[in-house]
Amino acid sequence: MVRVAPRWAEWMRRWPTPADLADASPAEVLLAWDSLGYPRRALRLRDTARAIADDHDNAVPVGEAALRALPGVGDYTAAAVTAFAHRQPATVLDVNIRRVLGRVFAGRSHPTPAPTRAERDWAAALVPTDEHVEWNAGLMEFGALVCTSRNPACEECPLQAECRWFAAGRPADAGRKPTIQAWHGTDRQLRGAIMAVLRAAGPPGADGSGAPAEAVAAAGANEAAGSDAAAASETAPAGAGQVSGVARALLTAGTADLDAEALAALPDRVEAAVLRVRELGDSERVDRLVRALVADGLAAESGGVLHLPQ
Ligand code: SF4
Repeated sequence: MVRVAPRWAEWMRRWPTPADLADASPAEVLLAWDSLGYPRRALRLRDTARAIADDHDNAVPVGEAALRALPGVGDYTAAAVTAFAHRQPATVLDVNIRRVLGRVFAGRSHPTPAPTRAERDWAAALVPTDEHVEWNAGLMEFGALVCTSRNPACEECPLQAECRWFAAGRPADAGRKPTIQAWHGTDRQLRGAIMAVLRAAGPPGADGSGAPAEAVAAAGANEAAGSDAAAASETAPAGAGQVSGVARALLTAGTADLDAEALAALPDRVEAAVLRVRELGDSERVDRLVRALVADGLAAESGGVLHLPQ
């Protein structure tokens, strides 16, 4: 919440309606998304905004079925928008709500990875006809603050007398292996670091370093990659001379081949972000993930320079 709230406020200031967001470039939304994680969601949100602007007269459609028909909107988002934005009855099933319901009414320690149809129907039957908004919001908050995954505050819990899991002595679910959300050393961490390089380099004409955007790209493309400006301009699309970015070679070259001069020529924050990528992954791994980011539409490459998609 602390991380998301300021970005949400800035997001809504810049793009107060779906039509405003629909006109934004991929680079703009990825920059605004910042380091929130899962950057594909930023692009999906823009796709959703376009569908709302084009097909729904710039107003978020009402009803879970209409919401689910939007790009990137699944059961959970459709239910949450219905419950919290449109204040209509809905069965919101995030992991916190599922855990609380499972413990109190079913005596289960933790929810399964995804709810089944039977669980949805069971949970739907529990939602009150009045105060359904309070029910969904309250359970979600209760699961996040009191009935937490690892350290539920049972001794202070107002539901203790009704809780079947507590009454049973808080047993572990049969066959359940604790899930540890690994981060350090994962491809996800390294992808995030590569995206941080692209954000630090910034969109065209806005690298924030005080240096012209062209300088950031040129420093890597022409020096680290060992190519000359003419070769770069031959392979780059129209307008690529204005693209801010970082030479792919600065990320993927082995230590022996790294052009230290080109690296030092980058603005400080871009250089720091590049060094972080090099610290986290070897050349082969970085190269593989760069290719994956380009394939996913989260990065683009022009003349040996990696940059945010325009
Ligand atoms: S008694 Fe413990 S497990 Fe049961 S609802 Fe309260 S916090 Fe959760």
